[in-house]
Amino acid sequence: MINTNTFTPVTSEIIAQLESIVGAANVSTARADLDLHAKDQGHHPARPGEVVVWPTEAQHVADILKMANEQRIPVTPWGVGTSLEGNPVPIFGGILLSFERMTDIIKVHADDFQVTVQPGIPYKDMNEQLKRYGLFFAPDPGANATIGGMLANNASGIRTVKYGACKDNVLRMQVALADGRLIHVGSRSIKQSAGYDLLHLFVGSEGTLGVITEATLRLMPIPALMSAVLAHFETVEAAVETVVAVRGSGLDPAALEFIDANHTIMLTEANNLDLLPKPTLFMEFHAAHEGALEMGLEMVREICEEFGAIKIRTTTDPAERKQLWYARHHSYETVIRKHPNHKFFLNDVAVPISAYPELISFIEQRRIEENITAYMLGHAGDGNIHVEFPYTDEAGLEKAKAINGEIVLKAIELGGTSTGEHGIGMGKIEYLLQEHGQAVDVMRALKQTLDPNGILNPGKVLSMAEHGLHELSMTTT
Ligand SMILES: Cc1cc2nc3c(=O)[nH]c(=O)nc-3n(C[C@H](O)[C@H](O)[C@H](O)COP(=O)(O)OP(=O)(O)OC[C@H]3O[C@@H](n4cnc5c(N)ncnc54)[C@H](O)[C@@H]3O)c2cc1C
Repeated sequence: MINTNTFTPVTSEIIAQLESIVGAANVSTARADLDLHAKDQGHHPARPGEVVVWPTEAQHVADILKMANEQRIPVTPWGVGTSLEGNPVPIFGGILLSFERMTDIIKVHADDFQVTVQPGIPYKDMNEQLKRYGLFFAPDPGANATIGGMLANNASGIRTVKYGACKDNVLRMQVALADGRLIHVGSRSIKQSAGYDLLHLFVGSEGTLGVITEATLRLMPIPALMSAVLAHFETVEAAVETVVAVRGSGLDPAALEFIDANHTIMLTEANNLDLLPKPTLFMEFHAAHEGALEMGLEMVREICEEFGAIKIRTTTDPAERKQLWYARHHSYETVIRKHPNHKFFLNDVAVPISAYPELISFIEQRRIEENITAYMLGHAGDGNIHVEFPYTDEAGLEKAKAINGEIVLKAIELGGTSTGEHGIGMGKIEYLLQEHGQAVDVMRALKQTLDPNGILNPGKVLSMAEHGLHELSMTTT
């Protein structure tokens, strides 16, 4: 059992110790700094930490953790706060450990297709710098997230269907443990089978087991040729059946995204696009030769026609492709802009691809039965769907939560997961047991071993209530 019932408040002595580790310029208790690190992009309420600290090197992180562990102070890592399940919200107060000042590329290993970086570098900025090597890091959540935050959430994105999630694109990390040790996990070799796979224990652990201070990432060559395909369908069922057929055809899409009709209407208006107001698939294909690209496009056109597509548009023009993907990448922001007086509850589940049609028709049926506004979009090629529920009041939020719960249980029943990419955070804790059963006991034992005082991002992934710890009162900023 985690052996403390209370955490220690951050006192002026502790502030002085933090300043001696990182320098006074990298420590702040200013209201504005606390509030800027109190809420992520999801629906969970804000809760500020007691102090924001910006380490600039790995040893700072290790020293802060050692001190915090000895004095029982919560430490919550923060990348850039784009999570959606409250993952970086410091709900027990304490130290908010921001990586906004650890943004260096340490070394590009161009011949090995690898890069070693500090954890606070946003992935889009990193990819911009890697362009001159002809390389890129493939996982791409829409927001300009940091590498540390992406690894900690095991983030994915539009191109995961071809290139994998974060877990598939990291080779080695340096991690600071709660007791202040700095360890390396993994290696720069593509093949590695030495001992327990600690690398993947920390990936997806949401800062609850250790803090990532450096990462070596696997890179891909920037594809020579790319195409985009848009296919509109009369029904959701036809669109979703096409997803399964494209995945089963041996074609290797680099993106395979589903957007429902209402979403498509909003993207059309917001981006001045010529889209039909129908369920739509966005696809992308990569190839080294023009012939291969053309053949792939022909095959995908045939599959879409066979499944009843009413309009298919293909392009290899880079500007047109970018315009389409810009619209898709910003679809969540577009929906938010179109509902200026609403808040949003965002769902995230994933199932094996064969179960995708059943999951989508279940969501569609519940949407009709409940007569609620809800938008669907998803990384369909990975069996991942997001349902966006706009709401204005507590009753609306409760309804969204209830339907979300039904969708999560359906996904688990279909052999899937309660979260494909956003993580457990504080929003999905109640479903972890239903998904993993007794394996949660093993997770608790790992947490106990690596963080016996429960200081690392408390209240995320695993419930702290059973340890006698309760969230401090929430405030909205
Ligand atoms: C518009 C929009 C679209 C999105 N689309 C996607 C998508 O397609 N796919 C997807 O996967 N996600 C998506 N997300 C969610 C989000 O971008 C990802 O979860 C991302 O990984 C969060 O990164 P961040 O840098 O913002 O980290 P934060 O939100 O700051 O933190 C994420 C978690 O990592 C921990 N953490 C941060 N840094 C470290 C570190 N150095 N060591 C240990 N733990 C750390 C935090 O404590 C927290 O638990 C989207 C979000 C938005 C707003």
